[in-house]
Amino acid sequence: MPLIDNYRRAHDDLRISVTDRCNFRCFYCMPEEGMNFLPQEEILTYEEMARVVRITTELGFVSYHLTGGEPLVRKNLDVLIRKMLEIQPDMDLALTTNGVFLPEMAQQLYDAGLRRVNISLDSLDESKFLLMTRRNLLGRVMEGIEAASKVGFNPIKINAVAIKNLTEEELPRFAKWARETGHIVRFIEYMPLDADKTWNREKVMSAEEILEGLSSEGDLELINGHPSDPATRYRYKDGKGEVGVIASVTRPFCEDCNRIRLTAEGEIRTCLFSAVEHNIKSLLRGKASDDEIKEWLAEVVRTKTPGHLIGQKEFVQPSRTMSSIGG
Ligand code: SAM
Ligand code: SF4
Repeated sequence: MPLIDNYRRAHDDLRISVTDRCNFRCFYCMPEEGMNFLPQEEILTYEEMARVVRITTELGFVSYHLTGGEPLVRKNLDVLIRKMLEIQPDMDLALTTNGVFLPEMAQQLYDAGLRRVNISLDSLDESKFLLMTRRNLLGRVMEGIEAASKVGFNPIKINAVAIKNLTEEELPRFAKWARETGHIVRFIEYMPLDADKTWNREKVMSAEEILEGLSSEGDLELINGHPSDPATRYRYKDGKGEVGVIASVTRPFCEDCNRIRLTAEGEIRTCLFSAVEHNIKSLLRGKASDDEIKEWLAEVVRTKTPGHLIGQKEFVQPSRTMSSIGG
């Protein structure tokens, strides 16, 4: 019983936010102060998350992503990873993290069976990093990348949000670095999911502009990827270095969207930009059987809208920030 929506999109990818808490305060994601975090009892337990993984596995899901908030601030994440891999040993499992705790945790995560890690890093310049994350921790993130590489994560993907009049200089800098280290650097177009609601279209560095900046280091060629991969991938023609662009704003990939999201407190969202959510926690904590939850999920997926409306006058920014949805 695959989950197919009214636009014939089959779903096999679940992003799980394990916490809404974070040790950073990136300006495009969280307010500097005044975040109200969820009380612990509101957050799904690892057992509850694993049950959703088991149910979705039985519905044909093969791709899972752990995110947050900062997923590594939640204790014993390796326990959840082990549970998930027991359910589906060959699932495509990835973690997105800001990297600060990787120096201590990379080995533990690898030993639990995780093989894919995406590390968010917007700038290789200390003052810009501080400006964007509001934390002076670039050195720690670089150590985290080093640690992940040492324990065997390969390739390491780096995600950088590209913002106009702010991160242009990062393009050639990251391109050089990607070519030297072999890490894959992907640039994400800035999306309207910031807490301060200062996003506007003029601040979006477009895929086209990003590619132009990256081309200063050499000619790029397209790598054919999977249609549901949000990143468009490129390699330098001389064979040294891979980069990518996630163009959610200027080239939306909604037509091929295959994912749903589970928030830390147990809401299913069918889109990052959904205005409505569907509470699975009450089913998990109530008496619903797995079969009832499967039918409920099928119905939820059928309500999915065809795409987001960023840039159009009908667009309404979600009340949640990216950190509380799970990016
Ligand atoms: N804390 C982890 C991290 O930063 O990697 C995981 C959660 S974070 C919400 C996931 C990704 O969303 C990060 O790569 C972050 O840069 C991205 N992100 C957050 N807010 C964004 C926005 N307004 N536009 C584009 N990407 C954003
Ligand atoms: Fe935290 Fe990640 Fe949001 Fe930055 S992008 S505030 S690290 S959740």
